[in-house]
Amino acid sequence: MMRTRLIAGNWKMHKTVAEAVEFVNDFRQAMPSSTAIDILLAPPFVSLFAIHQTMTANDRFTLAGQNLHWEKEGAFTGEISGPMLKALGCTFVLVGHSERRQLFGESNADVNNKVNAALEHGLGPIVCIGETLEERDAGKTQAIVKDQLLKGLSGLSAEKVSKITIAYEPVWAIGTGRAATIEQAEEVHTFIRATLTSEWGREVQDVRILYGGSVGPQNAEALFGCAEIDGALIGKACLDPATFAKICSLAVSAST
Ligand code: PEP
Repeated sequence: MMRTRLIAGNWKMHKTVAEAVEFVNDFRQAMPSSTAIDILLAPPFVSLFAIHQTMTANDRFTLAGQNLHWEKEGAFTGEISGPMLKALGCTFVLVGHSERRQLFGESNADVNNKVNAALEHGLGPIVCIGETLEERDAGKTQAIVKDQLLKGLSGLSAEKVSKITIAYEPVWAIGTGRAATIEQAEEVHTFIRATLTSEWGREVQDVRILYGGSVGPQNAEALFGCAEIDGALIGKACLDPATFAKICSLAVSAST
């Protein structure tokens, strides 16, 4: 069985609308045209409309939100809902990114609510999990990752879990330039796959597990060479169109 690799760029809080449109125009020129991989851009909410306006059926990338609220509408000042993202052409949404968890207090219960809302509104949740350095040093990596997985996906049927993407992002590797080694990533990805299968069975065997944390052109080829790694969630290296396109091309090479 082959899972299509997914390369997702998380812009975080970067680029104005004009800069976002410029990025997309440049990226279109530089990106691989192959259908062998899926490519996702997750710009700030305020740029989704403008980017979506420029898109055509020929585009080989789709859009994702960086977050969503679990209610579809209501008195939630400053929040954005699943139907709003869907209406702007989003196909996926990040849920539980470590910055959301650490800086904005998101709990596994919040993640669970958001995953349910995303699925209800036809968005593929990309559920981010990963341990801190302190937890890794204390030998708790598997326990933390399992807890985040089981609580974040609590109560979901196998059919629903089969529509989810997992991003394993060790917190100590995000934005630090210190990526996990291939062996470290492979070990946790294998553990995540085993946990998913033991909880939900064979129906979830095609769930994609992405690696995130200081991925760049320098280590992408080696990461994509690993059968357990179904793609990458990329922060810093996705902000430059040529660099992000290069990583996408490396994923195509590993997939063809
Ligand atoms: C991220 O924030 O999801 C991420 C992986 O960031 P970076 O690539 O900058 O480490």
